[in-house]
Amino acid sequence: MTPPLQFYDNYTRSLRTFEPLVAGGAEVGLYTCGPTVYDYQHIGNFRTFLFEDLLKRVLEWNGYRVRHVMNITDVGHLTSDADTGEDKMEKGARRTGRSAWDIAKLYTEAFLEDSRRLNLQEPTILCRATDHIPEQIAFIADIEAQGYTYRTSDGVYFDTSRQPGYGHLARLDVKGLDGGHRVELGEKRHATDFALWKFSPAGERRQMEWESPWGVGFPGWHIECSAMAQKYLGDFFDVHCGGEDHIPVHHTNEIAQTEARVGTRLANFWMHGYFLLENDSKMAKSAGEFLRLQALIDRGYDPLAFRYLCLTAHYRTQLNFTWDALDAAATGLDRMRNAFHGLPRGSAEPDAAATERFTAQINDDLNVPRALAVAWEVARGDMDPVVKRVTLAAFDRVLGLGVEAWTPRREEVPGHVQALADARAAARKARDWKEADRLRQELHAAGWEMADRPDGYDLRRR
Ligand code: AMP
Ligand code: ZN
Repeated sequence: MTPPLQFYDNYTRSLRTFEPLVAGGAEVGLYTCGPTVYDYQHIGNFRTFLFEDLLKRVLEWNGYRVRHVMNITDVGHLTSDADTGEDKMEKGARRTGRSAWDIAKLYTEAFLEDSRRLNLQEPTILCRATDHIPEQIAFIADIEAQGYTYRTSDGVYFDTSRQPGYGHLARLDVKGLDGGHRVELGEKRHATDFALWKFSPAGERRQMEWESPWGVGFPGWHIECSAMAQKYLGDFFDVHCGGEDHIPVHHTNEIAQTEARVGTRLANFWMHGYFLLENDSKMAKSAGEFLRLQALIDRGYDPLAFRYLCLTAHYRTQLNFTWDALDAAATGLDRMRNAFHGLPRGSAEPDAAATERFTAQINDDLNVPRALAVAWEVARGDMDPVVKRVTLAAFDRVLGLGVEAWTPRREEVPGHVQALADARAAARKARDWKEADRLRQELHAAGWEMADRPDGYDLRRR
């Protein structure tokens, strides 16, 4: 019997059984907030994308087809979540001396390349904010017609006081927030009000700006996700995700906008990936220096070692990145791959009992660390080797470590090591066990290990 699929929903703050909104084999709708492409993504960002990839694979494991929509934020995300400061794209353009359009393209491509290196499945639809300006304008016009907006000298704002339930997702203390920030409000009426449309500054031409019923300018950051999610997934779909930082502002505001337009909270489940930390503090792009996947590759790591590292922690706990932890993950990945490759091919069904234990873990709010432990039990256990291989290959549809695609790299074997190995093989053939053992010890001392096979031997580093 398949254990029920349960996810922790941050909207209700509870573990709920997942039931698709549209029953009967239709697709599950999944929206994940994508990258802001003013710079490279750091490995923290990728921890969230990895969690979302696992979620999608777990849904698929349970027999659902997933319609996955991810946006590319290429306009409107300001340097401050309070809708002040500069557009990150225009700032990025200045930093690099390129146009905002060029850097959007560059960093989108870099993001997609790193996604492939991490075995992230491609979204069904990848949509750019700048390709959906009319949809965003229509959305704002609708909210305006419902009386939820007001204008200031720099934009059109959402009046959060019009919505009694505003801030439910984050359990915001709206009144308290309002009392505390009076001075910084500017023309905003309440601390939690947010921009729907910002005007281009007077006398200044932005690189990215559009005509609108309210004046030339650009959309606020949150409206793109409400507009594109609704366009591609409908008024109310199954799951919406992002990083934990999205709970108090971005997702809270996506919900407010959608509630104002169509009366739903946009998604049935709200799930969030918790942060990857560095030196126990937040890893942030705005801090200037950050770790990219490329930096790990430059140090000789396989990018999938980072995927493995993320599999070892539950998505709802923060994870502190250290090189030691990455080393341990790289070793784990290597061992898993080698264990898999030592197994013979053949046709069999995955082991039913192990599969049930694996499913029970992933279906328990994505307990991937425990599911990984089940994979290790299988790898180390005494199951029939063909069944073992088939079972591990099946688990890898969720874990995404690409064990089947991996081939051992041919080690460069130094001449003297090769000579020792050949001598040992000859001693073995001559049944000179004493000499064979002595040579094996010499090989060990040189840091190598021999595994005998019926047709020869394997030589690898210890
Ligand atoms: P951004 O490119 O800033 O829009 O962020 C892309 C995704 O990464 C969002 O879902 C963020 O919530 C998430 N994120 C940002 N910083 C971290 C971090 N340190 N650890 C995990 N996820 C993060
Ligand atoms: Zn979003």
